[in-house]
Parts: sequence; structure tokens; C-alpha cells
Amino acid sequence: MKLLCDLSYNELSELLKEYGQPVFRAKQVFGHIVHGKELDEMSNIPKDLIKRLKDDGWRALGLSVEQSFKSAIDGTVKYLYALSDGNIIEGVLMRYKYGNTLCVSTQVGCAMGCRFCASTLGGLVRNLTAGEILSQVLVVNALNEDKQHRGVTNVVLMGSGEPLDNYDNVTKFLNLLSAEEGLNISKRNVSLSTCGLCEKMIRLADEGFTPVLTVSLHAPFDNLRRRIMPIANKYTVAQVIGAAKYYFEKTGRRVIFEYSMIEGENDTEECAKELSRLLKGFSCHVNLIHLNYVKERGLKGSGDSAIDKFRKILDNNNISCTVRRSMGSDIQGACGQLRRKYIEDKSK
Ligand code: SAH
Repeated sequence: MKLLCDLSYNELSELLKEYGQPVFRAKQVFGHIVHGKELDEMSNIPKDLIKRLKDDGWRALGLSVEQSFKSAIDGTVKYLYALSDGNIIEGVLMRYKYGNTLCVSTQVGCAMGCRFCASTLGGLVRNLTAGEILSQVLVVNALNEDKQHRGVTNVVLMGSGEPLDNYDNVTKFLNLLSAEEGLNISKRNVSLSTCGLCEKMIRLADEGFTPVLTVSLHAPFDNLRRRIMPIANKYTVAQVIGAAKYYFEKTGRRVIFEYSMIEGENDTEECAKELSRLLKGFSCHVNLIHLNYVKERGLKGSGDSAIDKFRKILDNNNISCTVRRSMGSDIQGACGQLRRKYIEDKSK
């Protein structure tokens, strides 16, 4: 399957030129794609062009919304998308005062194997293309926009998958997302979360990409980190923090460390003190996250008092830190859980 949304405006112009189309056609077709329209919905485009594109295996978008679930508590919406090969991925739209943030997936499944995460349970199925990642934003934006407001104002690459393990597609996606002729979402409004692939963090900065970098650290000691994140066998905590510092120096953007609190594992006083020592003097921010329960994993999240105690130690050491607000708790918890449940239910 070939996707028009994988193409930049210039690439689409070239393609339509090959189909003998006038110059203005690219603008029309691109406009439809930006508003989440499939080929059959492009009313002012000649029918014979649509037919030829379809006969040649082209589609406009990489996916469609299969199901959605809205939280009665805070308006958060979870989406299940069907890809053209039948795979299912998920996304979450969170509503804040300043706008709507969409969490997008970058891979079907994930190869990283973190012990607390549901997305990685079946391993990596495949990478998503740039257009498939963009399509998540296009369809959700279209469902939520009105004349005055965009449906999606901020994007976080925190759904299933390790974005830096799919580097080429993800960086192409970042360019498509901020393209002036496209959705034109400001580069300032995009965050990328990684489990800490150091060379790729450095490459991202060197190549001039500047999303807010969110680094899933989850442990200040190498032996502990190796127990919960297999990637820690490849990179030490010192290397991960070193790459984060490099990113900050090169891009000027403050790095955020994510730390999901697991009872009796990484929530001890010793961990809080070591984390403070490691981050001292680095202008960064720590997000403490309530662990979402994943039944196959059996790990238990830390209680509020343990989290609060941990936060106070960071506070006392002048490490900027917040406990992340959990959203949409009534519509399935952890990343990846919804997709898994859907697949299980279907196979019954
Ligand atoms: N692969 C990327 C992005 C995906 S996960 C990464 O590792 O950063 C986004 C965030 O959710 C990561 O910080 C991840 O560690 C965290 N996460 C995964 N499973 C979780 C769970 N069950 N509870 C809380 N946080 C979880």
C-alpha cells in the first residue's frame, strides 16, 4: 500500500505532475489530506484521477479509527486505529486548558522489553511509516477541530514503540508535522519519549531536531535499571544522562526524566538520594509517574505516601520535580493495554 500522507508537499506535487495534473491540484489534494480525508471523500478532485491513484495502489491515509472511548471524568479519549494491513494501534487525546495533546504510537509493539510496559509484551511487530504516524494526528485532529480551533495542538511520541528505534520514519514524521503547508504544528509543541538510545539522542540534536526530549530513566543504579529495562545492558545510567546533557547543550531544550514508581524496586530513599546526586546542577525536570498496573507483569505501583516521600527528597535537593497527573483512568490504564484487550476479545 502506498500512502499519499507519506509524501511531503513537494513530493506530492511531483507525483501529481506525473499524472498530468495542473499545478493547483497538489494544493487541493494536500488540503484534503491535512483535514483527514480519504481519496473517496475528496469531492472537488476529478473522479478519473481518484480512480487512477487507487488503481495504482495509493491511499490518502494510513489508518482509520476503529473504536473510541471517552473518559467521563476528564474528557480524555482513547482511540483504536486499524492500519491497512489489519494491525491495531492506539492513541490518547488529553484535553488541557491550553489545548489538546495527542499521544501517538511509532511502532506496532516494541522490541525494548521493559518489565512494566504492556506495549512490548508481544515484541516488535513492525515499524510505522512517517505517514502512518502522521495519520494518527490527521484523523484525530479532523474529529476534534472546529472553525476556530485545531483539534490537536500538541503531540507526544509516547504511545507504543520506541521512537528512536524507528529513527528515519520518526524524523520524517517530525518534518511533516511542522510543515507550513501541512498541519503546521509548532516544533515547540512536540515531545519525544525514549528509553535512552544514546547515539540516537545525540544524532537527533546534531541533525537539528528539537522536540522536548523525555527520557525514561526509572532507576539511578545500573543493576536496578537492568532488572527493569533490558536496554540498560547496552547503556549505563551515566551514558544516558550524558546524552541528555548533550541534547540540552545542543538544543537549549530542557530534558525531562520519567520515573515510573514501582513498589519496593525503585521507590526507596536510597534511589531518591542517588537520583538527586546524579542530576544535581543539570537544568532538567523529573516526572514521577504512578505505575499503571499491567496484569501480565505483576509489578505493583508505589503508594501515594512513598511517591510523596520520594518527591520531597528531590525537592530538598533542588531537583525540579512533579508527580504526573493521571488522566482517563476509567477508560483503561497503561499504554498498550487497550490494544491488547481488543486483540484478546477478538480472538475469543
Ligand atoms: N519507548 C518510549 C516511549 C513509550 S512509553 C520510552 O520508553 O520512553 C512512554 C512512557 O510510559 C515511558 O516513560 C514508559 O516507561 C512509561 N510506561 C510504560 N509502561 C508503563 C506503566 N505500566 N506504568 C507507568 N508508566 C509506564
